[in-house]
Amino acid sequence: MYRCRICGNARTTKFLSLGHTPLANSFLRSEQLNASESQFPLNVVLCEQCGLVQLNHVVPPEIMFRNYIYVSSTSRTMPAHFEAYSDAIISRFLKPECDLVVEMGSNDGCLLRAFRNHGIRALGVEPATNLAELANADGVITINDFFCQRVAREIRNREGPAKVVIGNNVLAHIDNLQDLLAGLDVLLLPDGVAVFEVPYLVDLLRNDEFDTVYHEHLSYFSLRPMQRLFESRGMRIFDVERSPVHGGSVRVYFSRTGTGPEPRSSVERLLLLERSEGLHSVETYLAFAGRVEKMKQELTEMLRRLKVSGATIAGYGAPAKGNTLLNYFKIGTDLIDFIVDRSQYKQGMYTPGSHIPVTDVGQLLKQQPDYVLVLAWNFMEEILDQQSEYLNRGGRFIVPIPQPKVVDQSHRAKTSCVQQ
Ligand code: ZN
Repeated sequence: MYRCRICGNARTTKFLSLGHTPLANSFLRSEQLNASESQFPLNVVLCEQCGLVQLNHVVPPEIMFRNYIYVSSTSRTMPAHFEAYSDAIISRFLKPECDLVVEMGSNDGCLLRAFRNHGIRALGVEPATNLAELANADGVITINDFFCQRVAREIRNREGPAKVVIGNNVLAHIDNLQDLLAGLDVLLLPDGVAVFEVPYLVDLLRNDEFDTVYHEHLSYFSLRPMQRLFESRGMRIFDVERSPVHGGSVRVYFSRTGTGPEPRSSVERLLLLERSEGLHSVETYLAFAGRVEKMKQELTEMLRRLKVSGATIAGYGAPAKGNTLLNYFKIGTDLIDFIVDRSQYKQGMYTPGSHIPVTDVGQLLKQQPDYVLVLAWNFMEEILDQQSEYLNRGGRFIVPIPQPKVVDQSHRAKTSCVQQ
């Protein structure tokens, strides 16, 4: 029986079932296409006791994170985001050349590089061996492991306590949150600050971003369950900021209760927003699931109609979330000929489950498909900037979320009704 990872409640409510699917980052080489793929259940439940939205099946982290192909530096938007991020943290909390900043899930060292460039001592902890190697090769000292109490002790013994501990898109990936918090307790100075950025449940529900549901994302956070979790460890939230990254995220600042800054009004404001958005009520989640079903129908009908009319359709971006959409909507090579992606790790591979070939972005102009389904919709502005030539030649993008719509040269969003 599944129990809520924050409060232990055994009576969670299931509201979205996305079936059994392969892991969203398990891209295939051509010789693997005929072998059977491991599939795992993908169900989302609400714990009405503490408010945490979560998956009710946990795939062992060793399977998901030891070789990880999401590289932060691949997108042009992310390094700029990290530059602004490090500036904000440094000016508020850090003194160059003495304070230590530790990042868990530090990926290829993209954020820590920005700290290092400002003279801050920076150390990363990254479970993916390939990414830790990339970071270390670039001079960002990175421990190849999962952040936990044991690793925190190791760092403290070697480098001393940390003034700032950061985790971006980490909390959602961790099943054993208590071990992570115990590690934080070991590592953080008495007046230290922990900063966690997570995709925000309010944005997920408002924009119907159901495709951000995949096995690696075990939890879908709002402030209320996070507050409960950290309070159990003597920590409190003292500030929150919303950010547009990853379809809408929230950056949450924690200190030890009683030390550190007084909580700002931003915290109370966001808690009130969560209540007014209906996050405490199961009906909100059932309505969301209903909208996802409608989107599935509209998008697949649109693609089928275009295909029957003789149009060629490609995909833009092969992010993990794209595979949730493709697999749940049952979109395969019958509808999409190929997908382009900037990541060299994915080029030459096939999408898990749907088996669509992934190729380089240059193919868009070489083959000039009539339509391109944008799977990496959170980078839409960047994509429109880079692909003006494709649009100039009459190409059209289909943005699937929140409602399928076509974007053409005029950059104007049209309704989902495609004229033939
Ligand atoms: Zn709970």
